[in-house]
Amino acid sequence: MTTLAALLRRRIEATGPLTLAEYMAECLLHPEHGYYTTRDPFGVPGDFTTAPEISQMFGELLGLSLAQAWLDQGAPAPFTLAELGPGRGTLMADLLRATRRVPGFHDAARVVLVEVSPTLRARQRQTLGDHPAQWADDISALPPGPLFLVANEFFDALPIRQFRRHPAGWQERMVGLQDGALAFGLSAPAPLAALAHRLEDTAPGDLVETCAPATAIAAQIGARLAAAGGAALILDYGDWRSRGDTLQAMRAHAYADPLAAPGEADLTAHVDFEALALAARPALAAPLATQGAFLERLGITARAQALANALSGPALDAHVAAHRRLTHPLEMGRLFKVLGLHAPGAAPPPGFA
Ligand code: SAH
Repeated sequence: MTTLAALLRRRIEATGPLTLAEYMAECLLHPEHGYYTTRDPFGVPGDFTTAPEISQMFGELLGLSLAQAWLDQGAPAPFTLAELGPGRGTLMADLLRATRRVPGFHDAARVVLVEVSPTLRARQRQTLGDHPAQWADDISALPPGPLFLVANEFFDALPIRQFRRHPAGWQERMVGLQDGALAFGLSAPAPLAALAHRLEDTAPGDLVETCAPATAIAAQIGARLAAAGGAALILDYGDWRSRGDTLQAMRAHAYADPLAAPGEADLTAHVDFEALALAARPALAAPLATQGAFLERLGITARAQALANALSGPALDAHVAAHRRLTHPLEMGRLFKVLGLHAPGAAPPPGFA
């Protein structure tokens, strides 16, 4: 059987080195060999674990924040309740369960899952049981009207490009061949208008990343929120403005070489939340929150105590560990951030300072 590595080597021999974005897109979403196209990568037997898979509290609290934002905006009906990159569908299932008793919320919500992987779509359908939902390939296919949206660890999976500053401009980091194997290289330096603003905060030798698909998606969310109302919660690792090489490959819960086994490892990069917030204008962004502070403000400790009352033994230990993992600064609490976008004129969703 041909491997993705062999296909990529042949393509590079024929047409030259790939940008990192071209390489990432092939690795993650190649129709036959792509990482997400071919597998369910989550959980203990998989390659990595995400917050909704750690505890039901995560999806519940995000759901209550969005439902409150919906009430604060006058409970518009109908509205689109969308998730980008829903993985196993766990977050949406927890969100829907937690919001069942919010009067009118379920009747007004049209649930749309934006997912490209056929394998994961099937898994999401199974998780949601008979709850009505529809699937879209792309955010541009969402129905019109008010939009309440959540995205956890979606933006980190979008293809990035990397540029190293050089006295004569910028050199793009490319994937080419060296002795017949995939290898990183740098293009010839050239000035780039799109990076003019990074001349202020970088010096020769520094590396910056751009993610055109992420800003394009944020722009669509922002335009919709401003025109029709709504709110979005975007959670991921990253920070306000990115600097340095954040490309990482994860395989079997360990860091791996991103070029070693294309299509077999998850490839991600940190999210530049400043770029998303700027692209989403005229929608407004609440001050960027850490995941730990955000979940605390939404009452995760009280929720954890309520759930703990029904648990004992190893189940209780696992529950306490999950709470810590989601919120503690040395675990996911500080690395992961929450960007809250909302319609101008509306209050931010609960959870922000
Ligand atoms: N939100 C989930 C899964 C995160 S993994 C969780 O927290 O567990 C990334 C998800 O985004 C997967 O479902 C993957 O198939 C999907 N995905 C990746 N690139 C995508 C794209 N360009 N368009 C739509 N979905 C994409």
